Amino acid sequence: MNDTSTRRYRPRTRLIHAGQRRSRFGETSEAIYLTQGFVYPDAEAAAARFKGDLPEGEEGFIYARYGNPTVAMFEDRIAALEEAEAAFATASGMAAVNAALMCQLKAGDHVVSARALFGSCSYIIETLLPRFGIAVTMVDGTDLTQWQGAVRPETRTCFLETPSNPTLEIIDLAAVAGIVHSVGATLVVDNVFATPMFQRPLELGADIVVYSATKHIDGQGRCLGGVVLGTERFIRDEFEPYVKHTGPALSPFNAWVMLKGLETLALRAHAQTDGAEALVRWLDGAAGLSQVIYPGLASHPQHDLAAAQMERPGTMLALEIADGQAGAFRFLNALRLIRISNNLGDAKSLVTHPTTTTHQRLTEEARLGLGITPGLVRLSVGLEDPEDLREDLDSALAAV
Ligand SMILES: *Cc1c(COP(=O)(O)O)cnc(C)c1O
Repeated sequence: MNDTSTRRYRPRTRLIHAGQRRSRFGETSEAIYLTQGFVYPDAEAAAARFKGDLPEGEEGFIYARYGNPTVAMFEDRIAALEEAEAAFATASGMAAVNAALMCQLKAGDHVVSARALFGSCSYIIETLLPRFGIAVTMVDGTDLTQWQGAVRPETRTCFLETPSNPTLEIIDLAAVAGIVHSVGATLVVDNVFATPMFQRPLELGADIVVYSATKHIDGQGRCLGGVVLGTERFIRDEFEPYVKHTGPALSPFNAWVMLKGLETLALRAHAQTDGAEALVRWLDGAAGLSQVIYPGLASHPQHDLAAAQMERPGTMLALEIADGQAGAFRFLNALRLIRISNNLGDAKSLVTHPTTTTHQRLTEEARLGLGITPGLVRLSVGLEDPEDLREDLDSALAAV
């Protein structure tokens, strides 16, 4: 059964217990219901279930594209963590972003988005939406006057991520939510970099939060997944019909991996942030580096805002290596422990060169406008001993 009573416990406890549905066998760990369909005791029960006519306290699963008990456990657990009214899981983070936007939009609508985005999010917003007659305005997310100037009566929804990928810009969530709501639009926030442990966009005024569960929620590099959180009305009336009928359902097996990931999310997010903070202390001012970007550093342009809206600065940092792309490549190729990969939020520390990987699709001008210089590398700090990471970084910097 859906255990909403766990909401009286603190977040770390909710991560372990919320949403659990025990079968009559009384299993300790959540069961994987690897089933596509469900059988009904009689024809009347099937008819009632399709009508949504359920006896009090009963859950009516119909087909795994619509819902599944293991997936429901994952949805309820993350909804309880963030005190969201409802959540709906998807097959990947991009399925979550796409559905969260598409389910709200029609031709003639207008969308405002921050420019600093994960590459596939910018493809949906800047390339796909205009194909369907949706007007799009891109703004510098940190500049509130640009948000104010961009919203208009036909603005239907707005999108941003903070901290942004890869330059870790911080956007004022409460202020942007106020601007967006002044024209009756909704605010969708991609909260992947902050993780649900360190930033609560719904509490700050966002209407919808999206996650790539592939990142910190799995946290061990195994499965793709995504999830969308919002009001009961948004999830049931707008989001659910869109995903039910278009099909980006999360596999029950992947949902089970994500459930197990949530049980250790608090420990991992804090330990990885401890590691990031230790590395930043060592790296700030190190030879071979022209800049260290981390929201927890006093030199970060939105340091005060980050301190106010995030519980901790997170597991991601960016380094500007001296000598541009050649220096960055020498640095990456000299690393032994930290591996080159565009994934993030993993137990293993991973480093990537955005100019030639995640952001290579952009023009050079667009990249430089976002602060993505040829020397920039993004580091996702894992769970290794920070001393080993520091030694690896030290020797790679010496090779620059
Ligand atoms: C990875 C990522 C996504 C996409 O998630 P997938 O699970 O890879 O589809 C979206 N937004 C951000 C910020 C991400 O890091």
